[in-house]
Amino acid sequence: MTEVLYLKDCYLKEFDATVISVKDNKYITLDKTAFYPVSGGQPNDTGKIISSGIEYNVIFVGKFDNNISHEVDKEGLKQGDKVHCIIDWNRRYKLMRMHTAAHILDSVIHKESGALFTGNQLGEDKSRLDFNLETFDREKMQSYITKANEEIKKSKEVKISFMPKEEASKLSMLLEWDYGDMKELRVIDIEGIDKQPCGGTHIKNTSEIKEIIFDSVDNKGKGRKRIYFKLKD
Ligand SMILES: [Zn+2]
Repeated sequence: MTEVLYLKDCYLKEFDATVISVKDNKYITLDKTAFYPVSGGQPNDTGKIISSGIEYNVIFVGKFDNNISHEVDKEGLKQGDKVHCIIDWNRRYKLMRMHTAAHILDSVIHKESGALFTGNQLGEDKSRLDFNLETFDREKMQSYITKANEEIKKSKEVKISFMPKEEASKLSMLLEWDYGDMKELRVIDIEGIDKQPCGGTHIKNTSEIKEIIFDSVDNKGKGRKRIYFKLKD
């Protein structure tokens, strides 16, 4: 099983690792990785794996059978190779800010309306959140975003801890989520704002988000509402 470095340190941009397996000349597993695999609405990281001076671009990262697989753009990596890996930090940092903003907005909407979160898709430029709300309007959504921005400006710390699954899953605001056979869950605590299990990547302080900008709302039918947002650069 791959040691997952981003669970404890989301700011790790480069690391050394050993190639554990190579499938079809392009799917690489490593003994440890900081590359985030596509999961929970957060896109995968991209970047480079370097071996003997040759750079292999990481074009996709996914999780299969508890292993994180890195798809590279060319052949050449072999089992046992010692490699140096570099995450595309510009992309990852945008997604970390988006992801943490989504936690705050999610929490504010839940507190204000009682709605539960049913899905999300984060992007580098624009993200969306889905809720099981019966009704809402633009003005209400704008007021939730204003409230979320007031919280962001308080420069709250974002803390990582690990808890037994039974205890951690009670904190979740997700309508449903399959935690599989995990015994311990990673819990993200945005001081006084939101506390819930999450395996994604987050910033250390809410001030790094700067500001959430309302984009649009979409009515996806009865009890299904969608909000799109951006972040200030
Ligand atoms: Zn999260």
